[in-house]
This record gives sequence, structure tokens and C-alpha cells, in this order.
Amino acid sequence: MNSPVRPNVLGMTPYSPGKPIDEVKRELGLTEVVKLASNENPLGPSPMAMAAVRRAAETMHIYPDASGHDLVQAISRKFNVPAWNIVLGNGSDELIHLLGLVLIDAPLDEVVVGDPSFVRYDAAAQLAPCKLVKVRLDSGDRHDLTAMAAAVNEHTKLVFIANPNNPTGTIVNRTELDAFLRDLPERVVVALDEAYFEFAAHEPSYPNSLDYIRDGRSVIGLRTFSKAYGLAGIRLGFGFAPAAIADGIQRAREPFNVNALAQAAGIAALQDDEHLRRTLRANAEGMKTLTAAFEKHGCAVRQSYANFIFADIGRPAQPVFQSLLEQGVIVRSGHVLGCPTALRVSIGTPEENSTFVEVFDVAMRQPAGAR
Ligand SMILES: *Cc1c(COP(=O)(O)O)cnc(C)c1O
Repeated sequence: MNSPVRPNVLGMTPYSPGKPIDEVKRELGLTEVVKLASNENPLGPSPMAMAAVRRAAETMHIYPDASGHDLVQAISRKFNVPAWNIVLGNGSDELIHLLGLVLIDAPLDEVVVGDPSFVRYDAAAQLAPCKLVKVRLDSGDRHDLTAMAAAVNEHTKLVFIANPNNPTGTIVNRTELDAFLRDLPERVVVALDEAYFEFAAHEPSYPNSLDYIRDGRSVIGLRTFSKAYGLAGIRLGFGFAPAAIADGIQRAREPFNVNALAQAAGIAALQDDEHLRRTLRANAEGMKTLTAAFEKHGCAVRQSYANFIFADIGRPAQPVFQSLLEQGVIVRSGHVLGCPTALRVSIGTPEENSTFVEVFDVAMRQPAGAR
């Protein structure tokens, strides 16, 4: 029987989350499994956010505030941006989908993305549906803004730039982005995905979407509570957008897209500066440990501005990924990202990082391509 589902939807691949810890334990008979594959916060959520969620649980029979008023106010104060430029999402993933819904209006429209970059951008274009234009990263695994500018034509509606990029951890700097935006036709919207903003903010040349929005540019900044703030499980993202685009998103979104517990968690997490500081410190330490582990084996490590490392291990990554898995460590294989000799490893706790260093040594001592 022919499927009644729209052909563009049938052409989509369901998200593959990497193996759940319990499944790996069961299949491989392991008791200890470490997951360094989803860029979550190894320190866990902010204790203040946990307390806020416990309090909010008392009233979870009541619908959430549909406007997210208190959370929007908290974001407005924290980032010094007017409320009408702020949108909330059930994770920034939802905001990516909403951008497709709100901005794409014909099959001839085009969306330009980096390759490899975050896979949810593809989904936003495929759902519309419209044409997805993928532009290879440059030789430094950074967004190639010159090539992306060249890919823009009269059909282009939306450009996604993950900054830092996932999976490579690389950034484009302010000078490069300024030049890209200067030459871009006014009607093209640029979504700057700043999911790892907090980890990159120490770099003086790192651009901030807010500066462009204040300047009246058609730029959207996407932020999330899933990474540095440690709230991935409760699903909470936010965005900064020019008023007209924010208004479009407010019309298109579900009224209760951000649940009451997430709103409470977000407000509390924004106040917990200490947890954020500890997170950034632990990440910087772990980054050194993992970088050294890769470099010891002659791997090319990209300088990462995020909470994960992308390394070219100079041999097929799949057998190494499998060896790590059998030793109880789950990472991301570049195999699935079109980088067959690369691994992406999230920074973990000091203990998890040490475990990775040990099992990676074992995996790399096996002959390349063995098994
Ligand atoms: C993790 C991630 C997100 C998704 O964040 P959620 O808020 O959890 O949906 C968005 N963009 C990039 C580049 C990411 O790595």
C-alpha cells in the first residue's frame, strides 16, 4: 500500500540518538558505561533549577503561562534585550522547526547550511518542503562563509550558521561574519545557532547575534538551556529575533510549547552564576585532558569553542568507535556525519575523561581497520 504520508516527510530520516546507556550495558554485558556523545553538562543541572522544579511540581495541574512572562523577563534582564525580541521554544530544536514554518513559503525557496553541521536544519527545509543547499566546511572545518555567500541566490530565504559549529566545535569570527552580512541581500534571514555560546564567549573575536539584531539586521540568535545550563532533559531553548520575525513565531507556535517546569527551571538556572562558572572551568580542564589524549596518538584536533572535541584520528573511525563502545564508552563516530575518520567526544567529568583516555589508548593500539 502506498503511504498516505507526504513524500517530503517520507524522505526524512528519524533522529538517531546514539545508543542509550542501558541498551549498551545489556548488549555488551557491561556494568559501567560512560556516554560522551550528546554534549550534555557532566556536572548535572543547577541545584537552584532542581529546587525550582520541585516547587513547580506542586502546581503542575495548572496550564503553564502561555507567554512565559517571567522567563522572558528574566532573559530580557540578563541579556539586556527587549521582550519583543525574545522567543521561547521546547528546546532550540523547536525554534529551528518554527523558522522553517514561518519563513519558507514555496518549494522553490532555498535554505543554505554548512556541511557537516547540525542536522535539524535539514529537517526544517525538508518539512517545508523546499530546497536544501549544503555548503562544505572549509579546510579548517569552519563554515566557509565565502562559499555560503556564493550559494545565496534570489530563492534563498534562510541561512543557518552554527557558531560554534556542531560537530566540529569551530567558530567564525566577527570580522568574517560582518563581511558576510554586509554583502548579503537584506531579505535573507541568517539564523546564528549559539547553542554553545557560553563556552565560546571568552574568545574576544567571537561574535554575538544580539549585536546584529540591535543593528537592525535580519539575524536570529538561537540559545539553549540544554548545554552549559544542564537542562537538556526538560527541553528549553530561546531565541533573539527582530520584532517582525519574533511576532511570526509567536503566531505559529503552540500556545503551551514551553511547559511549566521548564519555565521555572530556566528562571532559576539563569540566576545560578556559580554553576555556570563551575561548568566552564570543568570544561576547560577536560578539554586539555582530551586534547592531550588525542595528540598523543598523532590525531589532528580542531580547536573547539564548545563542550566537545572533534578529532581526525587518521584512520577509519568506525572500528575505534566500536572498540570504545565495547569498553563502555559511547562517543559519536564521524562516520554518520560524512567524516569517516573523525570522532566527536563530549567533555565529561574528570573521572569520565580519565576513562576515555584509558580506553582510547587501548582502541588505538589495535591495528587500524582490524576486526
Ligand atoms: C544541542 C544543539 C541544539 C539543540 O538544543 P536543544 O535546545 O536541546 O533543542 C541546537 N543547535 C546545536 C548546534 C546543538 O548542538
